[in-house]
Amino acid sequence: MAEDVLQMPLQYLKGVGPRKAADLKKAGLHTVEDLLFRFPLRYEDRSRMQSIISLKPGQTVAISGEVLNAGLANTRRPGFRLFSALIQDGSGQVQAVWPNQAFLKDVIRPHQKIVLFGKVELWGSRGLQITDPEFEIIKEHLDGNREPGAGNRDTELTLHTGRIVPVYERTGSVTTNMQRRFVWQALEQLTSEPFDPVPADLVQQHRWPSRRDALWQAHFPEKDTPIEALNAFAAPAQQRLIFEDFFVFQAGLALRRHENAQVRKGLVCKVDDRIRQCARAVLPFKLTPGQRDALAEIVADLQRGWPMQRLLQGDVGAGKTIVALLAAIVAMENGFQVAVMAPTEILAEQHYRTIAKWLDGKRYRIALLSGRVTAATRRNLLPSIERGEIDLVVGTHALVQDHVKFKSLALAVIDEQHRFGVVQRGTLAAKGLHPDVLVMTATPIPRTLALTECGDMEVSVIRGLPPGRKPIRTLVKADSRRDEVYALLRDEFKRGRQAYVIYPLVEESEKIDLKAATAMAQELTAVFPDYQVALLHGRMKGDEKESVMRAFSSGRLQLLVSTTVVEVGVDVANATVMVVEHAERFGLSQLHQLRGRIGRGEHDSTCVLLYQAPWSDDARERLKAMAETSDGFVIAERDLRLRGPGDFFGTRQSGLPQLRAGDLTRDVDLLEHAYNEARARIESGRLTAAQQDYVRSVWQRQFGLISVG
Ligand code: ADP
Ligand code: MG
Repeated sequence: MAEDVLQMPLQYLKGVGPRKAADLKKAGLHTVEDLLFRFPLRYEDRSRMQSIISLKPGQTVAISGEVLNAGLANTRRPGFRLFSALIQDGSGQVQAVWPNQAFLKDVIRPHQKIVLFGKVELWGSRGLQITDPEFEIIKEHLDGNREPGAGNRDTELTLHTGRIVPVYERTGSVTTNMQRRFVWQALEQLTSEPFDPVPADLVQQHRWPSRRDALWQAHFPEKDTPIEALNAFAAPAQQRLIFEDFFVFQAGLALRRHENAQVRKGLVCKVDDRIRQCARAVLPFKLTPGQRDALAEIVADLQRGWPMQRLLQGDVGAGKTIVALLAAIVAMENGFQVAVMAPTEILAEQHYRTIAKWLDGKRYRIALLSGRVTAATRRNLLPSIERGEIDLVVGTHALVQDHVKFKSLALAVIDEQHRFGVVQRGTLAAKGLHPDVLVMTATPIPRTLALTECGDMEVSVIRGLPPGRKPIRTLVKADSRRDEVYALLRDEFKRGRQAYVIYPLVEESEKIDLKAATAMAQELTAVFPDYQVALLHGRMKGDEKESVMRAFSSGRLQLLVSTTVVEVGVDVANATVMVVEHAERFGLSQLHQLRGRIGRGEHDSTCVLLYQAPWSDDARERLKAMAETSDGFVIAERDLRLRGPGDFFGTRQSGLPQLRAGDLTRDVDLLEHAYNEARARIESGRLTAAQQDYVRSVWQRQFGLISVG
């Protein structure tokens, strides 16, 4: 059956030995289906054979003819050998040369029929020649030198030339030509139409080819397919397969969401005028329109019978905390409990202080359950939480993992800052709790990524910042102008302000970088003898780190030299300067996160991005973007374009699915389309059982640990 062919391991293809199979595996290609869904990098039109007499210098051409003579020549450069062949067609003759490929003497021989693809050059008195062309021997019977295992492959005679040819990325020892052969072989074995997960009406509506035809055409396009469309991956066959890729993924997410909506959460909130009044009584300022919309979405979820899974996105400083707190008030006024969780102890304490301030004088009972509360307090606290005598608990993510039991947990607010973890979300459900879950993230995520990474959640976005924020001045400076930076720092210190100097910490060279950061801290101590300088890095013990952070937030330290651990760090309104060393090494989103540490108070702030030449074009683009905009969403989109989706979260372990044909930057429209279709069809029960089974099986194969439902 066709499905069996698609799931066949690649080593069963002729010519794929253990070594090549291993190389392919390393690139994530295990089965025939994996191979077929790996699109060419690009396509070359080698279909039109040009007559030799019409060749002109500068053209890239395909010609076909007979080898008149061929041989190796020594050149004037010692050790440099040139293999050349004289090719003739009905119209004329032309020389083809291959520098330094002596082995060709055993491949290209007189009387062979050959097809060449390459660039025509004018070569002094020798006239025209084609240098280093791709070639294919059409008939090899003349010298009996057949490739091993070539078998009967008549149709394959011009696989690499004489047609629109797919060009693949090299995979270890597997060259583009080899892959072309493997793909051809695989397609030939696909003798019947495989199961199609894409609903038939969609295929019809778009006039897409069948699945099997699409696979053929995506690799070996028909003769007159416009090459531009192919290279833009906009040909119907390609679009169909890209859609399939997205659709299957989105259908998996939609299934998960659908199944989540079948869970009854038990604690359903009501909202009336009294409760609205309570919320208003807490509000210290007017909400921005973005905050109001997000709150309305959340509160609507609280009133539904199934658990909320909502991501609240908003740039650093967008004001997510108050939105979460107002939602918490709705839950508490319904007599339920709320948990607020932060990634670190410091952040948990910070949330606690903020919330305590806002709720001061109100009758809500709130508590902080951090590693720093005494054992005695903890012993008292845990039973009160279990008896429902505490309305709101603030703690680290450990809250859900520890032995904390709630009487009536209705809402869990998870502050992930820029960290992206689905782990905690899973833990709650594993404990049999189905509270409404609100995840707050300060990483603006481009929409395409949000649709994939967080497609099983609803997303609320707070655009813009509350009024009255002072913009941060951003300077990009060469490292050689460090004196100016020191002068700036000194001025700020004199005014009583504080500053960060950030050092990159690249994993591979962690030790060296740490030494550099340490040396920098020493240098700065010498430069600013009248001020307190301290070093903070990830290798320090937790309590050492905390005591440095505390000294900085209380103002006892003026200058904090730090590796990027400070990213998830605290809110120090008095810190007004951020100097980033080796800014060229940082990703855009990371720079944005770092910059978000300043500009949090009433004073003007400056971010200095120091770069060391030579810097790449990408680095230049990144720093330019930083200087041009402070809108996290704009920066996120640019970052996605510069780095590609795989690296967007800075790590491959982000849980981002490895899509096969689809590209999150190129195929935005198809993704959006797949998202809408998958969601609508699953919610209205229009996906057949077979299609659902297919989706589940792909999810298991493709996305490993992540399970549907
Ligand atoms: P983040 O989204 O990064 O968590 P916060 O919730 O910490 O942002 O809010 C940043 C600051 O802005 C806080 O000091 C908060 O009190 C203030 N803030 C939030 N919303 C508003 C608003 N609508 N008007 C004025 N200040 C606001
Ligand atoms: Mg916050």
